[in-house]
Amino acid sequence: MITGKTKLLGVIGHPVEHSLSPIMHGAAIAHLGVDYVYIPLPVKPEDLKQAVDGFAVIGLQGFNITIPHKQAILPLLAEVSSIARAVGAVNTVWRTETGWNGTNTDVEGFLSPLQELGRDWTQANVVVLGNGGAARAVVAGCAQLGCAEIQVVGRDDQKLENFLHSWMNSSLSVNLQVHTWNNLPELLPDTTLLVNTTPIGMSPHLDRSPLNPSEVELLSADVIAYDLIYTPRPTLFLQQAKQRGAIAIDGLEMLIQQGAAALKIWLQQPVPVEVMRQSLQEHLGEGVGKNKD
Ligand code: NAP
Repeated sequence: MITGKTKLLGVIGHPVEHSLSPIMHGAAIAHLGVDYVYIPLPVKPEDLKQAVDGFAVIGLQGFNITIPHKQAILPLLAEVSSIARAVGAVNTVWRTETGWNGTNTDVEGFLSPLQELGRDWTQANVVVLGNGGAARAVVAGCAQLGCAEIQVVGRDDQKLENFLHSWMNSSLSVNLQVHTWNNLPELLPDTTLLVNTTPIGMSPHLDRSPLNPSEVELLSADVIAYDLIYTPRPTLFLQQAKQRGAIAIDGLEMLIQQGAAALKIWLQQPVPVEVMRQSLQEHLGEGVGKNKD
């Protein structure tokens, strides 16, 4: 029940209608019985500063940030965590007496299913497909795991060059090399962790994969294939990798865990991750307990 004392949380984006965050946060808030509400907040790029100033005026407790504001929010914050600075993007903001503080929980979300595997990642040969915003969280995560070398594959030379340079003065120790897609066949046989951060294969393009059939043949049987896409689950890429014997990880757990980490920051208490997971699985029409591989 919303009362006069109910505290406000939300997600800003443009568009924001597609966001699954209100579903999982709403489920967690209801389960905990805390006096909060989490709402979608559509904010156009040109209105960002005005909106954030307004959030302070009305006493919003905190908010998530989705496309296109993850970088643009940085100068509006009083404090930014070192991981968010390394990634160059903020997805979680909370109010303090001195202003808004921000961090990036996508890195923690990305790492969560990998850490569950309990591997030594220092010898991993990591290949990241794509060099956009999500790839930045993936690279930061792999650096935190201690991966010796990270190969990033993209389609635009200038963007790849910019991506490479952006890590040079990073607080994280990142050993990165960039490649265009024509180099991918050379990289694949030795790849032990292959992460798709492109939208190739995302619904409704279910028949697309970042790998062509001959590239799939180059995957070793012990590769871990990780697709950040969460609709569909699994993508064609993950199906192909599984047929080669790979461990397949889809993007839903990353989404859940980044949300859980954000909610923990706002509420300052443990949060019901399983409730958040079930709410999204039900929303995505998968039923409880299905399709968790
Ligand atoms: P983004 O910043 O737009 O980056 C997308 C990257 O994919 C860019 O490097 C882009 O290349 C590349 N790309 C796009 N279409 C391509 C194509 N047809 N062929 C080759 N490369 C292509 O987007 P993002 O925010 O990083 O998100 C990427 C994906 O990750 C989306 O599917 C998103 O849903 C998913 N994601 C999932 C989570 C999660 O929690 N599971 C979190 C964040 C993102 P150019 O730069 O050259 O255009």
